Formats: sequence, C-alpha cells, structure tokens
Amino acid sequence: MSAYSRFLRNIVIPGGAKLAGYDAFTPYLRSLESSQWLSPQQIRTLQNAKLQRLIRHVYEHTDFYRRVMDERGLTPDDIRTTDDLVKLPIIDKKVISRHYDAALRDQSIPRERLIHASSSGSTGEILQYWTTKEQKAKKWAGLYRFWELAGYDFGKRYATFTVSANRGFSNHPILSKLEWRMLRHLWLPMIEITDENLAEYARRIAAFKPVILRSYASTVYFLARYMNRNGLTTPVPAVITTGETLTPFMRETVEKAFAPGRVFNEYGADGMQIAGECDAHAGMHINAETVFVEVIRDGKRVADGEIGELTLTNLEATATPFIRYNIHDVGAMTWEPCACGRGLPRLSHLEGRLTDLFATHDGRWLSVHHFTGFFGHFPQVEAFQVIQHDVDDVEVKLVTNAEFTHRHEQMVREALADYLGETIRLTLTYVDEIPTTPAGKRRFFISEVMQSAAGDETSEAA
Ligand SMILES: [Zn+2]
Repeated sequence: MSAYSRFLRNIVIPGGAKLAGYDAFTPYLRSLESSQWLSPQQIRTLQNAKLQRLIRHVYEHTDFYRRVMDERGLTPDDIRTTDDLVKLPIIDKKVISRHYDAALRDQSIPRERLIHASSSGSTGEILQYWTTKEQKAKKWAGLYRFWELAGYDFGKRYATFTVSANRGFSNHPILSKLEWRMLRHLWLPMIEITDENLAEYARRIAAFKPVILRSYASTVYFLARYMNRNGLTTPVPAVITTGETLTPFMRETVEKAFAPGRVFNEYGADGMQIAGECDAHAGMHINAETVFVEVIRDGKRVADGEIGELTLTNLEATATPFIRYNIHDVGAMTWEPCACGRGLPRLSHLEGRLTDLFATHDGRWLSVHHFTGFFGHFPQVEAFQVIQHDVDDVEVKLVTNAEFTHRHEQMVREALADYLGETIRLTLTYVDEIPTTPAGKRRFFISEVMQSAAGDETSEAA
C-alpha cells in the first residue's frame, strides 16, 4: 500500500465520513476486510449473532413483526440461527412498499434520522423504504470491500462510466469537491452511443489509465464492441460491471478490449450490496456479514447449487427491515471454498427475474434487464416491448421519435443479434404505443414460452 493510500485510508476517509455523518463507514469496512477470511463456519456464527440481534429489535420496535411473530406463537428466542428464519414469512416489494411507513417502520429511530429511498424494477413497480446514514455507510463499506477484491485501494485511479455521477458526499459541498480529486476519480458521463462519443470515451480512458473502470454491463459492452471493431485496446486491470445481467458473450467482448484486464461482476439492488466477484472469477462472493441469502423455490429453501429465487435478509437494516425479502432474481449459491481463500459463500449463478426471462434453445436465459440496458442507450427509442413468440422467434416492438434513423435501426439490430445469437429470428416492429396490461402496467417483456412455466407468485404476510 502506498503512503498516499494509507493517508487517505487512515486520515482523509475516516475524517470525511465522520464530518458527513457516516461514522460507521471506516470501522465497518475494516471489520469486513478481516471477516472475509473467516471460515464458513465462523461466518455462519457471525450471521446467527446478527440475526438474533435483528429479530429481537424488529420484534420490539415494529408492529409488523410483533404481530407476525405473536400470531405464529414465536418469541425472539425461537429464531436463533438462520435455519430458524423459515418460521417467518417471505415478503416482497409489494409488502414493503405498502407497510414501510407504518407497520414496518422502526419506531426506535427518530423521524429526522430516517432517509427515504426508492428503486424501480423492470415492471415499473416502485419499492419504497427507509434507510439511515449508518445503514448507507455499511452498504458503501460492502461496496468498497468488493472493489478491493478487484484490486482497488483508496488513491488508485478509477473511472466510472455511467449516466449520472455517483458522489458519496453529495450533500456536503466541500467534501464532494475534494472527494473526486483526492480519490483520483474520472467520471465519464454516458450521453449517447455514437461512434464519435465512443471514440472520445476510449481516448479519455486510455489517457487516464485507471486501475478500475466501473460501468453498467451494457454501457461498457457497447464501448468494448466499438473498440474491438476499430482495433483499439486499452489495458485496464479491472472492469467492474454492475446493474444488469452480464452474459458470457459481453464478458468476452469487454475483456478483449481491456486486455489483459478482467471483468469483475458486482450485484447490488434495493439498498443492498449483495455480491461481487474475486480474482478467482468463480461466481460472486456474497456480502454475507450484511446480507443473508436463501434460495427459494415454491416457497421452500433449496440445496446449495440449485436454482431458485434469491431471498435476502439484511442483517444490518432496521429502519425498514428486509427479512426474507424475495428480490425475484433467480440464482444459486454455494458455501464451497473458493480458490482465493475467503470464507464468504458465493452466488454461483445469477439471472434476472423468473418472469422476465427467455429461455433459448441453446440453454441460455435472456433477461429483461439486458434489453432495458440496451435501449437506455438510445434516446431515439421512447418505449419498447420484447415478445418471445417461440423459443427462437423474438419480436421487438419499438416506439421511436423523429431522430431515429436507419443508422440507429442498424445499431439496434446488430447489438440484439450479437446478444440473441444467430439462431434466433428477430423482427423489429414500429408501433405508436405499447399497450398496457388491464391493470395499467406496462410489460417490457412477454414470453409466450415462459408464461406457463412461471406462475405469478406473490407472497403476502399479515
Ligand atoms: Zn474467491
């Protein structure tokens, strides 16, 4: 570690975090840096201790869990290990958004310390919940720990390539200015995918020489694709991808453009930093000291390695508790030891939502997140809907504006053909509007193949 890294780590970051009210950041990051090397058994013990504390707290301070547990004849003593969690109901976005400001609110936290947060998913449903500075600080610590897995340390150059800037201390005028300069951060604002813009991004990254480039999977994929086609390579040791499904094909494309750098995929959602890849590149380590993951199918926990819906318990969140929260992403996990030596369990698979997936003949699953990512880069496309009529027959309906030209159509076609593969028949249809469902919801994704396979599951407690 360089003297500058030590200076940032020991003086600047803790001082800045404290000033901005995020005191928990540094101690929590340090604890994560050491606990990742614990054995799986020790990590389970740590999870159980945190779970007991969490359950006791939500029983005492939320109406929701007091009622749910009383109805089931449970006391906090009945939930001693993560295995006991099955005694509690599975909840989802609907339940949390409905109760977050009343029955699911931690009554022990004064209103003025609560921070409102929301996130929206592929169906346009919005998750609303409360968080606190302490909880956010712990989430960031989880994020930095993942960056460290990819070779980051404070003071090393990093670049982010995203639509909006991510400023840790955005509420603090002085710190936010200092933050980027001291942390040697370059932000590449993603505006529009054109050859001219992509050439400029490639040039700026080559000049800046970051050790880490962080981006949405599809954004960096478009850049890499452009670079490969134009014979450009820029070594970047680690490309951290986030936010969307990363396919093996996208990974390959990105690793070619930034060779000998590698892709480190990261997974965070709904206020949680859930998992991130280490340099063994064998799945993603779960942020297990903060998030307990269960894999659920038909309401039951499945064995290690089996696919199901990821159901998360945030062991550090009480403002709005996330306990057995079905995030509706599909994946599998394992506690098998990783080559890197960390005891943290891993997600061995991660796919999109069950109802938002296409299955193809060659056994791949295509996800709606991928299409939202793609079309996010085309401001000329105002709305879209993807319909899988048959396993190898996909129609994409597009609502476009006056700026959409033949060149854009060609780019959309090529990018989708890359992703869907050559065996799939792709039809682009131009429409005036995308019809909504009877409930008024807009579906981005309709699979006539998967519809029968995935029932519309909703779990509701209380
Ligand atoms: Zn590992």
